[in-house]
Amino acid sequence: EPVPKTRAAGAPSTGKPAVTPESVINLDHGDPTMFEEFWRGTGAAAEIVIPGWQTMSYFSDVGNVCWFLEPGLDHEVRRLHRLVGNAAVDGYHVLVGTGSTQLFMAALYALSPPAGAPMSVVSTAPYYSSYPAVTDFLQSGLFRWAGDASSFEGDTYIELVCSPNNPDGTIREAVLSSESGVAVHDLAYNWPQYTPITRRADHDIMLFTVSKSTGHAGTRIGWALVKDRDVAKKMTKFIELNTIGVSKDSQLRAAKVLRAVSDAYELPGAGEEHRLFDYGRRKMAERWSMLREAAAASGIFSLPDETSGYCNFTKDMASTNPAFAWLRCDREDVEDCASFLRGHKILTRSGSQFGADPRYVRVSMLDRDDAYDIFVKRLASLK
Ligand code: PMP
Repeated sequence: EPVPKTRAAGAPSTGKPAVTPESVINLDHGDPTMFEEFWRGTGAAAEIVIPGWQTMSYFSDVGNVCWFLEPGLDHEVRRLHRLVGNAAVDGYHVLVGTGSTQLFMAALYALSPPAGAPMSVVSTAPYYSSYPAVTDFLQSGLFRWAGDASSFEGDTYIELVCSPNNPDGTIREAVLSSESGVAVHDLAYNWPQYTPITRRADHDIMLFTVSKSTGHAGTRIGWALVKDRDVAKKMTKFIELNTIGVSKDSQLRAAKVLRAVSDAYELPGAGEEHRLFDYGRRKMAERWSMLREAAAASGIFSLPDETSGYCNFTKDMASTNPAFAWLRCDREDVEDCASFLRGHKILTRSGSQFGADPRYVRVSMLDRDDAYDIFVKRLASLK
C-alpha cells in the first residue's frame, strides 16, 4: 500500500487528518488531540528510549497482585493522585489495563458470581455509550446490560457511576443501594482541567485513564484503584486470560508522562508553562466560553448550565469544563439533532446512544484547535 504523501515512510501516524474550512468535522469520538500542543512543549521530560533488549519478559513485579504492573507506573500513579487529591491511594491496589476499557471488563468479570443468573449491569441515563456495548458484545453468561439505573428494580447489580459524567458532565453519586449491589466508579474525567477537585474519592473500585488525564489515548493505559484484595486478584486474572498482561512499553511511557506532570508542580523552577492542569483548565474554559457564545449567536441550541465549586487542588473557585458538550437542538422541527448537524458536516454522537432523547447530541471538546474553531463558527451560523 502506498504511504500517504503527508507522512514520510516509517514516520508515526498523526491520527485524524488536518482540516480545512470545508471539511467534515468529526467530534463523535472523544479523541484528546487538543493536548498535543501542550506535549509538543515538554521536550525530554516526557520522552523515553527503550533499548532492544528491554521490556522483553512477560513479568514486571512477581510479588505484586498485579504481576504485570511496572513498579514505575505504580509509583507515578500514586504520586499524581497524592498531588491532585482526587482519589485515595493508601490501602489500594493499583491495577493496570489496556485502557480503562479493559479494566471495566475486568471489573464486570470480578464482580459477577460464577454461577446462577447473569449479573445486571446498570447506569443512570444518559450513560456512556460504551457501557451497554462493551457489556453485551460477547453475550456473556456472567453479566448483562440492564439499562437505566434510576428505573432498575432488584437488589443484585453492578452500578456504573461516571463522574464527571460522560456525556453530560454532571457530578454523580450511586443512585442504588443494597447489600448485594456493587458500584464501579469511572473517574476518567475527575481531573482539574475538567472539574474542581472537591473531595478525595475513596470508593471500592475507581477507574482512571491517561486518555483523559494527559491526553495519551493512543498509549492505551488505564489504571484501577481497588480496595479489596480478592477483587483485585480476579480483575488481574481477567487481564491475564484476556491479553496476558499489558504492554510494558506503554506502561513505561505512561509512567514518564505522569512523572512529567507531577514534576512540573513539585520540582522548583520547573516552569509554569509545563503545568498540564493549568494549561488544560485555561484551554477548556476558553473553549466552553466560545461554545456558549456560538450557541447564543445561533439561538437554536441549549447547553447544560455552568456550575462551579472550590477546587482543593488549585485552591480557588473553578467552573466545570466538561470534556463533552451535551448539546440540545431546540428547533421544533428537528427531532434528530445528530442528523441535522451531519447535514452541516458536523459529526456528533446521538443522544439515543446514551439512553437519552435524540434531540441531544454529545460533542467532543478535546479536538485540535483548527477543527474546534471551524465547529464553533459553523454552529453559530445555524438558524
Ligand atoms: N470511561 C469513560 C467515561 C470514557 O469517556 C472513556 C473514553 N471515551 C473511557 C472510560 C475509556 O478510556 P480508555 O481510552 O482508557 O479505554
